Amino acid sequence: MSDGIELKAKHSPQNQLGLDNQLLMFARHWYLSGAYLRCTSCNTGQKASEANLAFLHENTCRRADSQHYPWHELACILHWVPSEDVVYI
Ligand SMILES: [Zn+2]
Repeated sequence: MSDGIELKAKHSPQNQLGLDNQLLMFARHWYLSGAYLRCTSCNTGQKASEANLAFLHENTCRRADSQHYPWHELACILHWVPSEDVVYI
């Protein structure tokens, strides 16, 4: 392009929920509190620097699951936040 801005094309999220709805669904289970992502059920938190570790819920949490990686889930959603040089097709 002659204006020096290179446009990249991405496909939108495949599940068709849309970015805002994906964030709403995420927020049902997790919330940001300072440097922590916390479970809405047990309020246990995990730092972003611990993102590669499975999330440790309280033993009594009804959402306890050893396969929760909420930072990765959030990162996947935020990947689709539009930036100035990206055009969705
Ligand atoms: Zn929990």
